[in-house]
Amino acid sequence: PAILESRALTVRYGDTLAVDAVELAIMPGSRTAIMGPSGSGKSTLVHALAGVVRPDSGEVWFEDERLDLLSEGERSRRRLARMGMVFQFGDLVPELTLVENVMLPLQVLGEKSRHARARALEMLDTLGVADLADRRTGAVSGGQIQRAAVARALVHRPAVVLADEPTGALDSLTAERVLDTLVAVAGATGAALVVVTHDHVVASHLDNLVVVRDGRVAEGAVA
Ligand code: ADP
Ligand code: ADP
Repeated sequence: PAILESRALTVRYGDTLAVDAVELAIMPGSRTAIMGPSGSGKSTLVHALAGVVRPDSGEVWFEDERLDLLSEGERSRRRLARMGMVFQFGDLVPELTLVENVMLPLQVLGEKSRHARARALEMLDTLGVADLADRRTGAVSGGQIQRAAVARALVHRPAVVLADEPTGALDSLTAERVLDTLVAVAGATGAALVVVTHDHVVASHLDNLVVVRDGRVAEGAVA
């Protein structure tokens, strides 16, 4: 059975129908690319799947639970514990070092600092940026920031990683390397991966393609 699923998922912003009755099933350990024109609803869809945006109608099921029926606090607890998220511009905390950023999910889950730091360093090492662990975001490159963001999304072994244009701000070679690592580490930890991307090279590293147009999953898309 699916680990994350939407049923007739619909999200409006005023008169704008951003997501229109979308049915999507993400299987455990699967790798899905979500593509489609700008403004077609990809980002809103991913945020609704993550429980950040509450749907106007329809259902979101995550690990056999109706996410959309939970309170905001409960949704955010599920997300912090069992999901990882990566955004286009890292969204790391600039006042913290890379390792402190990667420790955050573990600390929120109650792990002691010493353990959290050791696991965060291990994950930064896996992503190839352990030597930059004590730098802040201002002192590293965009690709290195995204590697740390990937480390933060995966450090707590989430069931699913949702990435919204994770390599959109990188040159194509750096993008491909970061994506390769994201796919490898998600695979190693068994996390399902959902990646919103405009980049066909990025999408080619994933197994399933979902095409979104005007808020709907386009006819014929394989999910
Ligand atoms: P994509 O990720 O495919 O570019 P989005 O999900 O960002 O698409 O946007 C889908 C539609 O919803 C667009 O018409 C966009 O203008 C609108 N939209 C997105 N976010 C908001 C918001 N916070 N308030 C109002 N309209 C929004
Ligand atoms: P490769 O052999 O191409 O490096 P793998 O899928 O074996 O690809 O591993 C990718 C990375 O994930 C490796 O650097 C490895 O250290 C790391 N890794 C492997 N297993 C785990 C795990 N259970 N948790 C976190 N990271 C892991």
